[in-house]
Amino acid sequence: MMYDIQKIREDFPILDRQIYGHPLVYLDNGATTQKPKVVVDALVNEYYSVNANVHRGVHFLSQQATELHENSRETVRRFLNARSTSEIIFTRGTTESINLVASCFGEACMNEGDEIIISEMEHHSNIVPWQLLQSRKNIKIRVIPINDCGELCLDRYEQLFNKRTRLVSITHVSNVLGTVNPIRQMIQTAHAHGVPVLVDGAQSAPHFAVDMQELDCDFFAFSGHKTYGPTGIGVLYGKENWLDRLPPYMGGGEMIKNVSFERTTFNELPFKFEAGTPDYVASTGLSRALDYLTDLGMENIYAHEQELTRYATQRMNEINGMRLIGQSPHKDAVISFLVGDIHHLDMGTLLDRLGIAVRTGHHCAEPLMHRMGIEGTVRASFGLYNTKDEIDSLVNGIERIRHMF
Ligand code: PMP
Repeated sequence: MMYDIQKIREDFPILDRQIYGHPLVYLDNGATTQKPKVVVDALVNEYYSVNANVHRGVHFLSQQATELHENSRETVRRFLNARSTSEIIFTRGTTESINLVASCFGEACMNEGDEIIISEMEHHSNIVPWQLLQSRKNIKIRVIPINDCGELCLDRYEQLFNKRTRLVSITHVSNVLGTVNPIRQMIQTAHAHGVPVLVDGAQSAPHFAVDMQELDCDFFAFSGHKTYGPTGIGVLYGKENWLDRLPPYMGGGEMIKNVSFERTTFNELPFKFEAGTPDYVASTGLSRALDYLTDLGMENIYAHEQELTRYATQRMNEINGMRLIGQSPHKDAVISFLVGDIHHLDMGTLLDRLGIAVRTGHHCAEPLMHRMGIEGTVRASFGLYNTKDEIDSLVNGIERIRHMF
């Protein structure tokens, strides 16, 4: 299929906006992505013509809403190539998915002195839930270090396993460095030690195909809003044998089979983990977004974004005083940088005046900032609709700002 970028951009009305008199150059896709019309239309249509609470209603609308919601689960299953929809739990996003595992796996499978392996490049959402568990259960958090290029030290990873290791929880792609971790190999290593793996897929699912059966991970988390879908919805994939073993996360409606004051029994998977009214409209939006990605072809999106990343790296390296943070050859769609001694916040603010949206700061990865010996970076992160012209605008913008200092 031809990747017709102009036609694709027409699907995203926001890309036509002018910011301070400049055409918007949206390079903050790592934080959230823009939404194609099909996604927003699906939300509006459902609210206007279907809206009813799911699962419990005998009436027409409730059944239709339930069908949409459960069909969406099937779309997610297909997108991830999971074995069954029992393995697809709707959450509010990556953060909630990781907290769910920390809470439920922590409850069922970890005791004082047990260990979890994470890495130095994790987002706070894959650090703090484990620290909360640590304060409840006195578990130990072991950390895989990274090298100066921004890659995990795999030899050190191997050495972290011992008989108390219960779980590995690592990011697939770093939201700061762009490093794509060799997750398949790392999962094999963990499994050879009998240890399950949770993958934070927030920055991988939007950019290339992720196949649960091929990766063989035990849990996988991603966010709808970073995959061109609505806010407030995300996914936790879990292998059925693990999910069966875990206790529920929250209590309430939907997650029960029978309730009495003496004894309550829990619903089957995946509903055991979905207490309360789900965001059944957002799930429809998410499924439209995933279908949109599938129709474009994840391999085409990947090729396009790889080309952008390669081009941006080359152009950025032409700038005097440019320091790229994260230099792994295995990088995807993220360029973090600092220029001379210009503060990242100044750079971000001045780029904004030129209509260029980038993110600045620690990117919810303070331990990584400490490791790199910096306070923060400027981060340009690409999506499926970005163009080389936009990267030229970024480079020209940086040059203008550099000359001001
Ligand atoms: N993990 C990574 C690697 C991320 O980039 C993000 C979002 N910046 C998250 C987790 C958290 O995602 P959310 O805020 O959608 O829960």
